[in-house]
Amino acid sequence: MPSGRGACVVAPDPPSGQAMDATPPPPTGLAIELEPLVTRVLAPNASPYTYTGTQTHLVGTTDLAIIDPGPADDAHHAALLRAIGGRPVTAILITHHHRDHSPGARRLAQETGAPIVGAAPFALSDGGPRADAAFDPDYAPDRVLADGERVSGSDWTLEAIATPGHTSNHLAFALHQTNALFSGDHVMGWATSVISPPDGDMGEYMASLEKLLGRDDRVYYPGHGLEIDRPQRLVRGMLGHRKQREGQIMRLLAEGARTIPTLVEKMYVGLDHRLRGAAERSVLAHLIDLDRRGLARGNGEQWRLAAA
Ligand SMILES: [Zn+2]
Repeated sequence: MPSGRGACVVAPDPPSGQAMDATPPPPTGLAIELEPLVTRVLAPNASPYTYTGTQTHLVGTTDLAIIDPGPADDAHHAALLRAIGGRPVTAILITHHHRDHSPGARRLAQETGAPIVGAAPFALSDGGPRADAAFDPDYAPDRVLADGERVSGSDWTLEAIATPGHTSNHLAFALHQTNALFSGDHVMGWATSVISPPDGDMGEYMASLEKLLGRDDRVYYPGHGLEIDRPQRLVRGMLGHRKQREGQIMRLLAEGARTIPTLVEKMYVGLDHRLRGAAERSVLAHLIDLDRRGLARGNGEQWRLAAA
């Protein structure tokens, strides 16, 4: 994540196998029913890093789960209260602790009495190497969900699916009743996730994509971008895309490219300059992964292929 940006985070690559949608986004603040158990509300935080903005999902009919309340924003908070319509909120679920996903949980929890559950918290008080400008430093869940743990309401059950990579604490949530998956920022409807080391981890991200390939989810509802039908096809395309990027990095290193800015210049021709930092973080994530697998070596800012 480029420092100074408070938003979440997408890479400059559209996912393979799926065209960027060209339709205008729905207006922010409206509750849109995606299926009888699922309603979506778009937050007013569009940016080059969040696409049309963060999407909060409401699950259930009589009592509700709220997934990723989004940024601390008065208009979005009011829109969520309208969509909730006085119904009891059983739980506020968080996929990960980025500032465009979790800060809205605190006020919502105060006003509804619902617990905040989901992704694990971070200890950021020392400003150590895992700190990142995109993190929500005040994120403090009432209950952390481990892989496979469930939260239920009267007509819904959500299961946490550990999907580290975009962040080390990222969870997706599977809705048992309809075979839908809330994919957070792990798989999005418009671009691939930024993997920003040291908290972001390319090896874990790839393993989490493989994990989703082994499931039979009907549809993904991502944190950003439209819902994803035939999600397995997109996940396969994303894995292929990352492997292609990795191959490209190996080729460029073999041809003598040594630094991340040089690699980014050759790999992302015509890149929007605002996304350059994000591209550099993703290339670094690939290099760390290649280093760990014994295929590349880094020395300061200089990278090369590992000796055969
Ligand atoms: Zn994120």
